[in-house]
Amino acid sequence: MSVVYSHSGLSSFENCPRQYQYRYLLDVEVETESVEAFVGKLVHEVLERLYQFVGEGRVPRLDQVLSRFDQWWNERIDPARVRVVRTGVPLGEYREIGLRCLTRFYRRRYPFDEDETLGLEEMVHFSLDEDGRYRMRGVIDRVARARDGVVEVHDYKTGRRVPSQERLDQDRQLALYQLGVSERFGTDAPVRLVWHYLAADVVRTSSRTSEQLAALRQQTMRLIDRIEAETAFEPRPSALCGWCEYREICPVSGGARRAGPEVRTPPPPV
Ligand code: SF4
Repeated sequence: MSVVYSHSGLSSFENCPRQYQYRYLLDVEVETESVEAFVGKLVHEVLERLYQFVGEGRVPRLDQVLSRFDQWWNERIDPARVRVVRTGVPLGEYREIGLRCLTRFYRRRYPFDEDETLGLEEMVHFSLDEDGRYRMRGVIDRVARARDGVVEVHDYKTGRRVPSQERLDQDRQLALYQLGVSERFGTDAPVRLVWHYLAADVVRTSSRTSEQLAALRQQTMRLIDRIEAETAFEPRPSALCGWCEYREICPVSGGARRAGPEVRTPPPPV
């Protein structure tokens, strides 16, 4: 049975093949997560809950939304597990970022009637080729139908950085999700890609032509070919290593001398 790929798996391989190997091939268990990932997950869950209420015709008040975040933060925060990478930044500052993201989103979207929600945390499965050899999956934060009838793929980002429009017009993640929603709505259905940069309170949109989607299928299949042909899975150190869950066992991060999972290739010289 062939492997099912995801955008995050592909990105992991592009950023660092060794990280990809740890996460997707060796299935190395991780005991910590970055505080950015922790806050991002909480914000996504709170927004999912918010739209569930909206779907039932009960728009929660802003203070209720923020209380939900605070409640889940208090229940789940474990300083031994949630790692702050940026030295000197107190944990509480990340809580404030989460609250700010939700407040800005709420004020921008209230009363949440500008579209119809068609799916929350919508799981999509699709193949890049007709034979089903290159299989993909993804989870879309929210799928909606806008007032102009266009199906929208919404994605929430809690990071501070907002990419340029040119970059988003080339973005792979939401374009792959478009391929996924096309299975449900048909390849002719017009689709809009929508990013919510919550911390910056910026919304960006983009769309893809059928030619661009065909090219994306080809590029992604070639990337999967590269992954499947890979044998070395060399570490590729970068500024992202600080956020990597495997840095304790990664040879270039000084973890080679600590006990770790056996890898199929010898570590490179440190
Ligand atoms: S610590 Fe850096 S080089 Fe090592 S696996 Fe993680 S991202 Fe790759």
